[in-house]
Amino acid sequence: MSPSQSTPLDSYAMACRQLDDAAAHLDIDPGLLERLRLTEREVTVNFPVKMDDGTLKMFTGYRVQHNDVRGPFKGGLRYHPDTDLGEVRALAMWMTWKAAVVNIPFGGAKGSVQCNPKKMSRGEVERLTRRFTWSIASIIGPERDIPAPDVYTGPQEMAWIMDTYSMIKGQTTPGVVTGKPLELGGSLGRFEATGRGVVIAAARAARHLGRELENMTVAIQGSGNVGGVAARYFERAGAKVVAMSDSGGGVYNPQGVSSAKALACKNQYSCLLGREVAAEDISNEELLELKVDLLAPCAMEGVLTEANAAKVRAGLVVEGANGPTTPEADAILADKGVLVVPDILANAGGVTVSYFEWVQNLQNLLWSEEQIGQRLEEIMGKAMDEVLAIAGEKKVSLRTAAMILGVNRVAEATKLRGIYP
Ligand code: GLU
Repeated sequence: MSPSQSTPLDSYAMACRQLDDAAAHLDIDPGLLERLRLTEREVTVNFPVKMDDGTLKMFTGYRVQHNDVRGPFKGGLRYHPDTDLGEVRALAMWMTWKAAVVNIPFGGAKGSVQCNPKKMSRGEVERLTRRFTWSIASIIGPERDIPAPDVYTGPQEMAWIMDTYSMIKGQTTPGVVTGKPLELGGSLGRFEATGRGVVIAAARAARHLGRELENMTVAIQGSGNVGGVAARYFERAGAKVVAMSDSGGGVYNPQGVSSAKALACKNQYSCLLGREVAAEDISNEELLELKVDLLAPCAMEGVLTEANAAKVRAGLVVEGANGPTTPEADAILADKGVLVVPDILANAGGVTVSYFEWVQNLQNLLWSEEQIGQRLEEIMGKAMDEVLAIAGEKKVSLRTAAMILGVNRVAEATKLRGIYP
């Protein structure tokens, strides 16, 4: 989903602006603030992949490590044609605050490779994944930096990373990535975790507004790792999903769209088709402006902007994606009285269960699905309560409140560690 604005989105500038908004409420030393604004390490790699037709193609990939003061770097790896260093820098910074908001002992990182996996064979994606892993092997590791799935990557890509890293090290090392297949040390509940967490956050936010998810109408942008799963959990909670989309467009039926049918259609035709799911076809732009109770942007950053925020008719926005709302859109939505549950809180379920997976890998233990669900509910619930309390006390948006909570935890940890040497 390309950003619906004429100027290109500067995700890193957006992340810095959010940091400044939070810092205004915190007593942070200017030097420390500068440290938090900058990433610790940025690696760009150009690497060759042999394509199926025998040609050699060069690809560019990034791994940006923002901050590891509270624990090893942690964050996903995305495959997307439009990615660049600025985007990954912002995504890495958001991971630092996200881990801190849910209070799990990780720092923040992110990686990406500029490619279009939809136009590549699985063999080509495998060779790309393995060679990229080799290129960044010296800076990742279970105690150093732990990648995970993100846009257009999933359990199979994580398995290839785990295998490649293990071959380099000469020993099987499951803890180097999370989001692995269950057969290779993946955790029960990890695949569902981000979408499930979105619905946990949405339920709490709805209650804050004096409502329940039951019978609320929901529009979801994106039907991948986050949106596809969130749709199922919204339905289970009794909400009515009326619209879903993927990068090609969406479907809408005010009586409800069955997520099972929509995902089956996507499986069969690689896109969503209104005629297959008893709905009308709509664009991604139209989806964002539907008259619904709850809007969940679960795809790419920068989709709610100055240009369309005034047209949002949902009373509650829950950000399954990272960075879907620009600061200008945030201000417009706040003026309209729309409650926005920010990305670093709403989609933190993924990294939370990644943490459970990593702990299980390090201890060679297996937790039950029930234990995982319970701990996820607990952690997400606590973070929601803490953020709502800060927002109420300081009269700020949930985004600024979540940033205050996360940034303060990182700042305090930094003060305690002191500066080496
Ligand atoms: N890519 C996901 C995110 O943006 C998950 C990260 C992780 O599990 O490390 O939060």
